[in-house]
Amino acid sequence: MFEGKGGSANFLSQTLCLRGKIPRLYCHINSFFVHKMLMSHLIAEIAVTAPLKITFSYLVPEELAAAAKVGMRVRVPFGRRRTVGFLLELHRGESTGLKKIHELLDEEPLFSAELLKFFRWAADYYGHPFGQTIKTALPGGLSGDHQRVNILTESVYRVLPMEDSPRGNKQKQLFDYIQEHGDVSLSRLREKFAAPHAALARLVELGFLSSAEQEKRRDPFFSETVPDDQVLTLNEEQQSAFEPVASAVTSQKFKPFLLHGVTGSGKTEVYLRTIDKVLEAGRQGLVLVPEIALTPQLVARFRGRFEPAGKRIAVLHSGLSDGERYDAWRAIARNDVDIVIGARSAIFAPLNRLGLIVIDEEHESSYKQGEGFRYSARDLALVRGQQAGCPVLLGSATPSLGSFYRAEQGQMAYLPLTRRAHAGEMPQAELIGLTQHPSAATISELVVQAIEQTLEKNEQVMLLLNRRGFAPFLLCTDCGTSFRCPNCEITLTFHQREGRLRCHYCDYAEPPVEMCPKCEGPNIEPEGAGTERLEQELAELFPEARIARMDRDTTTRKGAHQRLVEQMMLRKIDILVGTQMIAKGHDFPGVTLVGVLGADSTLNFPDFRSAERAFSLLTQVAGRAGRTGGGRVLIQTYSPDHYALDCASRQDYRAFYDQELPFRQELGYPPCGHLVNLVLSGNESAKVLGSAGRLAAALERQAKDVEILGPSPCPLAKLRGKTRCQILLKSAQRAPLRRLLAALDDAQKQLLNGVSLMVDVDPLDML
Ligand code: ADP
Ligand code: ZN
Repeated sequence: MFEGKGGSANFLSQTLCLRGKIPRLYCHINSFFVHKMLMSHLIAEIAVTAPLKITFSYLVPEELAAAAKVGMRVRVPFGRRRTVGFLLELHRGESTGLKKIHELLDEEPLFSAELLKFFRWAADYYGHPFGQTIKTALPGGLSGDHQRVNILTESVYRVLPMEDSPRGNKQKQLFDYIQEHGDVSLSRLREKFAAPHAALARLVELGFLSSAEQEKRRDPFFSETVPDDQVLTLNEEQQSAFEPVASAVTSQKFKPFLLHGVTGSGKTEVYLRTIDKVLEAGRQGLVLVPEIALTPQLVARFRGRFEPAGKRIAVLHSGLSDGERYDAWRAIARNDVDIVIGARSAIFAPLNRLGLIVIDEEHESSYKQGEGFRYSARDLALVRGQQAGCPVLLGSATPSLGSFYRAEQGQMAYLPLTRRAHAGEMPQAELIGLTQHPSAATISELVVQAIEQTLEKNEQVMLLLNRRGFAPFLLCTDCGTSFRCPNCEITLTFHQREGRLRCHYCDYAEPPVEMCPKCEGPNIEPEGAGTERLEQELAELFPEARIARMDRDTTTRKGAHQRLVEQMMLRKIDILVGTQMIAKGHDFPGVTLVGVLGADSTLNFPDFRSAERAFSLLTQVAGRAGRTGGGRVLIQTYSPDHYALDCASRQDYRAFYDQELPFRQELGYPPCGHLVNLVLSGNESAKVLGSAGRLAAALERQAKDVEILGPSPCPLAKLRGKTRCQILLKSAQRAPLRRLLAALDDAQKQLLNGVSLMVDVDPLDML
């Protein structure tokens, strides 16, 4: 049996001999053993966190062999340094020339072989290095070259069977509470009872309670209690939407659904009921939302519905510290969690018994990562559902054109909710056509009157202006000079309160000047308006009203957004001004007037999806008015005849789709075709342009059934000091694009030094 391979073993032993200067004869005698020893070495396939598409083999040293498992992080030598890698596979084989793994960084695997398959698919599809793909997928603190995260523990109390019951009042209260709730942690008891320590210690001593150390959850989301959430009787439409999803959950098969429900139609109740089915089937639910911080109400409903029944919910959000994220991840991997709610990156959560994936507000662009590993969590959800064999439920009031198109093609089951669940009729929006550019007056007379009437009735107003800051730019009215970012060459936004001109792309800032640097004139004026200016104008118009602003500038501090939402709920705010942030996730019953002041900036964006974005934003914000009936929506615009605005004002998705799709068809743009965007950037513009030309030519030679557009300057031709240029690859089918992408690694040789290439498959943002 060994003879066939003996030759190579001999050869190996000889080379070993030469290297090790061991006597020849000794080698011959031992060649059999040497061979056996070589073959029995444990080899690990490792993806290192470097920008490389290939993986590497390492020898697992004997002392680590028993502990090493697929899904762990390791520290390995790489070139002349050390780096972190991920263990993908273990097998036995020859170890010649292989370097050793230095250290295992985890005690338990962080992901399963099944999840690894999903990571691999994603890395391959998006043309991203495997190790860096896994790094992005894992929670923050785990991906880098960090040491282990501390695992915190705390005491958990449980009632022991006893004949008596405790005497003291406090002891009795604690005992009853723990008896009613099962295992209760010390931190939970601390929330409910003042200084419970002594009484607990006494109860343990007397044998009423047992106490054990358990891993502590650091998640701040769970420090507050939520009210129980009552099950609602589904209306007819909800019932027809619920049934097919529920039966797909029960049969544990992949099936995609599009839940198209107008704002207020009760999509959340459908999610809750289908997730309930998932738990009934002994499986786990994954719920993705665009941004956790903006959807506290949804999280509260899930907690209020399922926690009283003893179900365990993990909320993954950007506010978690590394330690908290690590805790949550490990709890999920151990099957200690029934429902995971999270933003984009939760699509990689290590659930082992997936029963359903819900994507709420599936049209939201935040599901697409905008840098590095540019994945779309919405698209990956369909792949993960397919691999895990579970249904996927996409929900939205304004589905992305792509999802609706797939539903039309029969690739997704279509579940419509056409009516509000309990509120009044959907308000009709009125379009107010502006004829001339107002210099400072951003609010038209009609809107001012409507605000007045609303405030008189003690009702609330929401005003959307999708631009933060005081003014989009400062202008010298004598010579026309404006102020631009030295790194990005776009105009700087004036922030009055902060007293700065700021670049919204790179955050460069400078103080405004009193005198024009060009003509030395003194007349420097802010042009146009942002939310800060609008807030100020409103304060002048309605000195009595309580006005607040919600945008990125006012919500950077932790909890600031939540406070604004609460004040709106408690009606401590009369007028809320904000960017698109105000259109998302909240349900303010007191709002009866919604005004949209800057619809045109979204509409005129240099992107083929601008009409879709404008339609979606306006439909969503208009749906916020009059949740309890009698709402009014006013949209102030320079293009009142545009179909996107017209359809949004009537909340008519179908009409918008029917008018938008022919444009996409004609141009072969998504959903009627597929795109890959290649962006080249570098400090020297000649090198960038030269590389782009060569790369485009190289791709042109290999392309089949792919149209190559460009190279051309990016809409943001300069960003953070770098010149940027793009090549757009377009094809009716995905396969030819993928073939061309595979050739890209080779074509990258065309790049000159100092020029980097960014690959964006299915791009959303093409600036
Ligand atoms: P969506 O997410 O579709 O905009 P929500 O799920 O927020 O809508 O529901 C809107 C409102 O309708 C909520 O206040 C919810 O409690 C209520 N609602 C939903 N379904 C029902 C139902 N079947 N019966 C009564 N009220 C309902
Ligand atoms: Zn800039």
